[in-house]
Amino acid sequence: MFDVVIVGAGPVGLYLGALLLQEGLSVRILEKRTEPSQHSRAIGIHPPALRALERAGVAESMVAEGVRIPLGVARRGGREVAKLSFAQATATWPFVLSLKQARTEAILAARVAALDPAALVRGMCVTSLHDAGTFVTLAGHHRGDAAATFQARLVIGADGARSTIRKLANIPTTGRDYPDTYLMGDFPDSGRDGAAAVLHLEPGGIVESFPVPGGLRRWVVHTDSLLAGATATDLAALIEERTGARVDPAANSMLSAFGVRSTLATRMVAGRIALLGDAAHEISPIGGQGMNLGWLDAAALAPIIVAALRGERTGKRLQLFERQRRQASRRASRQAWLNMALGRAYPTSFLHVLHAILRPIFRLRRVQNLAVRRFTMHGLDGRG
Ligand SMILES: Cc1cc2nc3c(=O)[nH]c(=O)nc-3n(C[C@H](O)[C@H](O)[C@H](O)COP(=O)(O)OP(=O)(O)OC[C@H]3O[C@@H](n4cnc5c(N)ncnc54)[C@H](O)[C@@H]3O)c2cc1C
Repeated sequence: MFDVVIVGAGPVGLYLGALLLQEGLSVRILEKRTEPSQHSRAIGIHPPALRALERAGVAESMVAEGVRIPLGVARRGGREVAKLSFAQATATWPFVLSLKQARTEAILAARVAALDPAALVRGMCVTSLHDAGTFVTLAGHHRGDAAATFQARLVIGADGARSTIRKLANIPTTGRDYPDTYLMGDFPDSGRDGAAAVLHLEPGGIVESFPVPGGLRRWVVHTDSLLAGATATDLAALIEERTGARVDPAANSMLSAFGVRSTLATRMVAGRIALLGDAAHEISPIGGQGMNLGWLDAAALAPIIVAALRGERTGKRLQLFERQRRQASRRASRQAWLNMALGRAYPTSFLHVLHAILRPIFRLRRVQNLAVRRFTMHGLDGRG
């Protein structure tokens, strides 16, 4: 019987595992993959998440490995439309950090292993769950065939957007698919934008580019449809056509086409089971908030778990947790929707008028402060 079993060793499950192990709890993190995923989805880590990661003793390693993005620039036709400095985000973390998700997960997994080398169980796919009222039994198969069961006083579903735990706990979701589709890839950084994040607001649709460790730049391009079979040459051509920037397709190190969905679980807590991260809410990647939001869920839930296992009454704290985290998720979704809407393909004349209106507004200090706070996820950790 473990205190807590976490299903899913993505960034959120690993982070929660580290926080709970630090408190001396007995924890198992069950992960169906036998090897860590090398597919890097998230790169952006925002200041409130860095503050939370500091609690698990991993922020420093991440900052040491990542690239600090101190500002974001919006351009159209090569001309600057707006510029945001993240310097005022917080005194400690005056930047957004860029680090590939695979490295982020590796740093978190190393922290978990340092706290308890047996905590992470790879190759364990959970397929069934029974909440007996005072404990929960999870069953599944280990490394393909061996049947295995785990019992825990509490179970956390951090098993991603298609969460098995959410389905087994009969928690419905609400949400929708968006019409937006994107093509994304990493190339050696041969431009002059350095550590800046750049948004090219072009009539054919937005082109975003971000620095990535290792002298790379990640390019994300809005496309008319899902270009599942596209090549690095296709992506390079789209980037050049819309922005004039040239990237070398032969040196491409990651390529992915994706569509966008937003879902929200109707509850995050059911009996002895709680959902965190993408299992509870899937947010559009445009704006880069999903992983960060999941960490902030975990940071809020960890002390409640510790208190509950000590026998304290936590009903009211759990209700508040659920309300605040679902609110944060809805706010992040609205922000992501705005980011996607601004990046769609529009006629040149419309963009011209839109930017003529936005440019003076964006020069106002109060507007800039608000935009920086929104972009850097200020307040999504429940600190107001
Ligand atoms: C293109 C793209 C770019 C993104 N960029 C950003 C960004 O810059 N910043 C940001 O904050 N977010 C970003 N995101 C979102 C981010 O990747 C996710 O929000 C994040 O991975 C969610 O973490 P998680 O731990 O909740 O779930 P996941 O990362 O999905 O991890 C879930 C884990 O559970 C395991 N699992 C699933 N089912 C079972 C089972 N039955 N038994 C055992 N294990 C199981 C899976 O194998 C997986 O390892 C991006 C997403 C995409 C697609």
